Amino acid sequence: MQNRSLAQKFDAVIAGAGHNGLVTAAYLAAAGYKVLVLEKREMVGGCAVTEELWPGYRVSSASYLTSLLQEKVVRDLELERYGYRVDAKDPAFFSPFPDGRHLYMWQDERKTLAEIAKFSARDAGRLAAYEAHLERLAVVVESMLLETPPEFPPQRLGDFADYIKLLGRMRGLSRAELVGLVKIFTQSAADLLDEWFESEELKVTLATDGVIGANGGPRSPGTAYILLHHCMGGVGGKRGLWGFVRGGMGAVSEAMAASARARGVEIRVNAPVRQIRVTGERADGVVLENGDEIASDIVVSNLDPKLTFLKLVEERHLPADFVQQIRRFRSEGTSCKINLALSGLPEFTALPGAPAPHHRATMHICPSIEYVERAWDDAKYGRPSERPLLEMTVPTMYDPSLAPAGKHVMGIFLQYAPYTLKNATWDQLREPFGDRVIDLIAEYAPNIRRIVEHRQVLTPLDLERRFGLTGGNIFHGEMSLDQMFIMRPLAGWARHRTPLKGLYLCGSGTHPGGGVMGAPGHNAAREILKNASK
Ligand SMILES: Cc1cc2nc3c(=O)[nH]c(=O)nc-3n(C[C@H](O)[C@H](O)[C@H](O)COP(=O)(O)OP(=O)(O)OC[C@H]3O[C@@H](n4cnc5c(N)ncnc54)[C@H](O)[C@@H]3O)c2cc1C
Repeated sequence: MQNRSLAQKFDAVIAGAGHNGLVTAAYLAAAGYKVLVLEKREMVGGCAVTEELWPGYRVSSASYLTSLLQEKVVRDLELERYGYRVDAKDPAFFSPFPDGRHLYMWQDERKTLAEIAKFSARDAGRLAAYEAHLERLAVVVESMLLETPPEFPPQRLGDFADYIKLLGRMRGLSRAELVGLVKIFTQSAADLLDEWFESEELKVTLATDGVIGANGGPRSPGTAYILLHHCMGGVGGKRGLWGFVRGGMGAVSEAMAASARARGVEIRVNAPVRQIRVTGERADGVVLENGDEIASDIVVSNLDPKLTFLKLVEERHLPADFVQQIRRFRSEGTSCKINLALSGLPEFTALPGAPAPHHRATMHICPSIEYVERAWDDAKYGRPSERPLLEMTVPTMYDPSLAPAGKHVMGIFLQYAPYTLKNATWDQLREPFGDRVIDLIAEYAPNIRRIVEHRQVLTPLDLERRFGLTGGNIFHGEMSLDQMFIMRPLAGWARHRTPLKGLYLCGSGTHPGGGVMGAPGHNAAREILKNASK
């Protein structure tokens, strides 16, 4: 195809209108940049979208809950002015168990303690101290979310000073808390929880946060950090709460897009970028799939690191060892999302009745740590879990406008569905696996088969195809210690810059990683502006 050079030139072109791309766009435009955002799909938002999958059913097809979105981003982009509203989830969790018992966790601490005491009075007595411990650690880690990681390895005097400043954040932590900080980065979620609690039911309910999106089971080192990562946000200023966005997760992205447009950003959908143009050692524009060439002083990629460097940039423009390391960046996912349109609500044997408070909670199916670990064992050997861990949510309990009157939408996020299968393909296993999940729910809520009107199963292969996530990894790359902070995506390249002048990264493959946070997008904009002022 003949390329067609367009006359218009931009200060910044952003490939991808995921929420991070939109955040970067809004900040750059506020600083006076002329910004163009190019999105492959027919809508903005990437993994934070609301899609009308079936007539009258509007579904948060990928991400489904909010908590991590940075307050500063909400304020700076005036997202509430553009329609962003969140209902905090209450109860937070509901876990039914095969023996007919159940555990609720509520916003009201007293009610939660009464629930935990059904399983262990000792654990009920320890919950407040556990939460205070996590909070102390979360405050330290949280203070780094909107920071650019220091240069690594440090070279100039100023780089060493950055490390000293970093250590300064730990001032005030007691010896036990410092030990706790080191442990949380290295130990498993199960080991962390074993130190605090004895009740299997409480431990597994809390451990789920440690394995969401992880390539590991609750006994894998590193999952304690994922657990902390999920505790770092809040809703309405209340730490640790997660909530449903009115209008679904797409409403977050729509609010960001409206804010960006109000600052002068131009956003084009159905505009896939085929290539990042390079002249000499500098990125100076993009080529679209339709052959249009758009010139720009800088190019920002919201795509994951593998797509950016292995697909959009020609290999000859990058150092060979950099390309090798990007190839080794681990980005295979193990999560699957199933979206359902329901004619009613699931009725649990452990707690009959509908609607009931638990339909407003994240409803778990994962009776024990051992159960989740076995689910991971299957995935390790290339099989979808025989009995996966399920997290089910019904957003229509908070926002009935998402479905026709009296009907519901239910999202099932599950672990584990490994991207690479041993003896089959996801095109063969997708629907049989979906059936297996419904059968599993039926063990706890027998009416489920009768009320499912429509079903969408998004395996990691589908997440890759639909949302452009390499390997279907929901965080743009594993969030393991060797791929975090000064190492995200690679050691030496954690400051949004790349080996090509004028090319920056702003997506979840950069610090502080995945989740609908806006932090990578915020930090990338700051680095770009800092660079320009030098
Ligand atoms: C199933 C699932 C469930 C999740 N649940 C939650 C949750 O409940 N809460 C939470 O906080 N996080 C959740 N996450 C994680 C979170 O959604 C992501 O980490 C985050 O949304 C990624 O945002 P991003 O802007 O960095 O990238 P993305 O959202 O991936 O955006 C990248 C954009 O680039 C576009 N693109 C790709 N290729 C091209 C191209 N060639 N040209 C132009 N555009 C292109 C894509 O279409 C996309 O719009 C979930 C993720 C998934 C997949």
